[in-house]
Amino acid sequence: MADCIFCKIANKELPSTTVYENDRIMVFRDIHPAAPTHLLIIPKRHIPTLSHCQADDAALLGEMMALIPELAKKEGIQVEGDGNGASKGGFRVVVNAGPDGRQDVYHLHIHLMGGPRPWKNQN
Ligand code: 5GP
Ligand code: ZN
Repeated sequence: MADCIFCKIANKELPSTTVYENDRIMVFRDIHPAAPTHLLIIPKRHIPTLSHCQADDAALLGEMMALIPELAKKEGIQVEGDGNGASKGGFRVVVNAGPDGRQDVYHLHIHLMGGPRPWKNQN
C-alpha cells in the first residue's frame, strides 16, 4: 500500500527500531511507548485490520502470537514462575481494530506492552 507507514517501515523506506524480522513479520518499537517496553508486531504484507483476516491467515496470526514469549523474554518482561499463584513480570497484548477499536494505523499490528508499573496509560 503506497501511503501506509507500516508498509514503508516493512520495506525499509522509513526507519524503525527493529527488534525482530523474518520474511513474513517485523517487530519494532512503538514511537510513542505507552509502557517501558512497547513493541509493534506487524505482518510485512498489508492487511488493514484484524477484521480483514480470514481463515487462511491463521498461520500468520499464529506465528505473530507465538513470537510473543520469546520477545517478552528478550525484553525482560516475561511472566516469572510457572504462572500459577504469585508471580512477577508480565505484559499486555492489544489489537485495535477500526474506529470504534481506536485503530490509528490501518496496517494490522499487535501491541506488546510490558515492564514495571506505573505505565503512561494506567489501564
Ligand atoms: P493503533 O492506535 O493503530 O493501534 O496504534 C498505532 C501505533 O503506532 C501507536 O501506538 C503509535 O504510537 C505507533 N506509530 C505511529 N506511527 C509510527 C511510526 O512512524 N513509527 C513507529 N515506530 N510507531 C508509530
Ligand atoms: Zn501497510
